[in-house]
Amino acid sequence: MPKILRVNMTDRTATYEDVPERYKFLGGRGLTSTIVYDEVDPTCHPLGPNNKLVFAPGIVTGTNAPTSGRVSVGGKSPLTGGIKESNAGSSWVQAVAKLGIKAIIVEGFPKESGWWGLYITKDGVEFFPADEYAGRGLYEVYPQLFERFGKKAHICSIGVAGEMKMAMAGVCFNDNHGRPSRYSGRGGLGAVMGSKGLKFIVVDDTGAPGVEIANPDLFNQGRKKLLEALRQHDITKPKGGLNTYGTAILVNIINEAGGYPTRNFREGRFEGAAATSGEAIFENNKKRLGKELYNHACHPGCVIQCSNTYYDEKGNEIVSCIEYETTWALGANCGIDNLEAIGKLTWLCNDLGLDTIEAGGTIAVAMDAGLLSFGDWEGAIRLLDEEVRKGTPLGHIIGNGAAFTGKAFGWYRVPGVKGQNMPAYEPRAIKGIGITYAISTMGADHTSGYTIAPEILGVGGKVDQFDVNKAELARNFQYTTAFIDTTGHCLFIAFAILDIPSGFEGMVEECAGLLGADWTPDDAARIGKEIIDRELAFNRAAGFTKSDDRLPEFMKYEKLPPHNVVWDVPDEVLDAVFGE
Ligand code: SF4
Repeated sequence: MPKILRVNMTDRTATYEDVPERYKFLGGRGLTSTIVYDEVDPTCHPLGPNNKLVFAPGIVTGTNAPTSGRVSVGGKSPLTGGIKESNAGSSWVQAVAKLGIKAIIVEGFPKESGWWGLYITKDGVEFFPADEYAGRGLYEVYPQLFERFGKKAHICSIGVAGEMKMAMAGVCFNDNHGRPSRYSGRGGLGAVMGSKGLKFIVVDDTGAPGVEIANPDLFNQGRKKLLEALRQHDITKPKGGLNTYGTAILVNIINEAGGYPTRNFREGRFEGAAATSGEAIFENNKKRLGKELYNHACHPGCVIQCSNTYYDEKGNEIVSCIEYETTWALGANCGIDNLEAIGKLTWLCNDLGLDTIEAGGTIAVAMDAGLLSFGDWEGAIRLLDEEVRKGTPLGHIIGNGAAFTGKAFGWYRVPGVKGQNMPAYEPRAIKGIGITYAISTMGADHTSGYTIAPEILGVGGKVDQFDVNKAELARNFQYTTAFIDTTGHCLFIAFAILDIPSGFEGMVEECAGLLGADWTPDDAARIGKEIIDRELAFNRAAGFTKSDDRLPEFMKYEKLPPHNVVWDVPDEVLDAVFGE
């Protein structure tokens, strides 16, 4: 039977508990958000003794369900002050699931300074002193951990940003090649891990029992349907859009739509878009390596395989991976059109343990406020490599995110919601994603409800990007997304399952088969709603009101070129999404 592992950092104990009946049919975001709702005081300080950090594999994580190696990390966010779940793909969580662990709850507060690691195997859980790894870059530390714990180890960690409890610190996991590059980036959960004195969770699943499947026939039936859909769809199939150009395939598309935020959301088109796109990464690699390089999986069993690696002129690796959000945040949003510089900045974020979206958003706000010029990539590198890495006073300001930096420099153009900076879609030009930013329980977050699919990509239907009446669209996407985040599948399966109904059916059948539940596709939205209702209740108790569900004022009067549009979605539409 799966267990919950409770780790107490006050007295450094780790104990296995039975899974309460009410958690039996939950996993991933559904489980982390429910445990945070049940166990964390919404009014607590996110970096104080009463916050908890929860890790959970999705429902089908650890099985051979395609593209299902996602971990959800949850807690109260130091960035937003609300509930947070942030997910990533890594073999680490597959190992956790195979060990029969349904969730890891980290709680308590260290009595003295010092860093600790946790080592989990089928034989038990041990703490190990980790001071020798503190204050150092993760690219230097990961190989040493693999040497110490063996090649079969899987690593979860924080970087120096988490050690310094910066609000843009993410939780980092290894990729398939052992790089420190897969991030539960958003919301500063790395700082929560830092506040507990926990530097690593190392897992080795050798000899693990594996994940129990209640109804293997139903599970396999669903798995086949989903696999078929993923292999058919142009975006998710082998050598399809994502496998060839990565998520950065979106750069030219969103730029063409006039919704590519440029120079801290001053314009909706970037003159350097083509030079920093997924196509440019693919073509540059081809020239430099003398062959076409398709992307790889972030964890075993992903059939989409969207993660790129970028190489320099000499054929040496610069970094893996440059996501759409990353090339935008550290590129167009900062006015930087130099892909090598974007690669270096991405590497720095991985090395320091930073969320690339918040890092780029913060540098852009600093540039807009006059600290640097737009396009000054050397200055941007200096901010991360010298100020943040060394923890200077300026580094601490930058490390605490865009809203904090805007306040520190008296700057009003801060494009965030609930303290979290917006990702790479301009809400004035693409209204549905703006509604999602406004009302998401997570702060400005595109992954809460990816309405870009119908608004721009024509996936799951086609709607007008400028239409403001999208309360129902935003609601449906958020509910369905909360369910997908619970299954353990990567959200990118949505491209296929929105267009191919049997794929959606397959996803639900996999979960029903694994759990022995009698779910049908109609249950997905119901389950998603229940999860979001708990997240909303947590945020209300934490002090959030309707006035927090709004976009920044400057977007209401500053016209965004090239469409010269303002944010004009009525507040009534925003309030109608969740009917409160
Ligand atoms: S589609 Fe990309 S991000 Fe998603 S699981 Fe696969 S490799 Fe990872």
